Amino acid sequence: MPSPKPGTTPYPGLCADCIHAKLVKSDRASVFLQCQLAFTDSRFAKYPRLPVRTCSGYKKRDEGKG
Ligand code: SF4
Repeated sequence: MPSPKPGTTPYPGLCADCIHAKLVKSDRASVFLQCQLAFTDSRFAKYPRLPVRTCSGYKKRDEGKG
């Protein structure tokens, strides 16, 4: 199995297809996964530790529309 490239996030688990997940780039070109739910709900970490295996805020992204 290939190791993750520098500057990419590890496999994010549930966040991979969660509507609340957003990828943000730092000024060092690293990519972080930001949980948008953390801005309105303090139970969630702004930068969750990946991979997220269980999450009460998880909501699957609807990829069939849009
Ligand atoms: S709500 Fe949970 S699964 Fe969704 S982005 Fe936040 S931490 Fe990840």
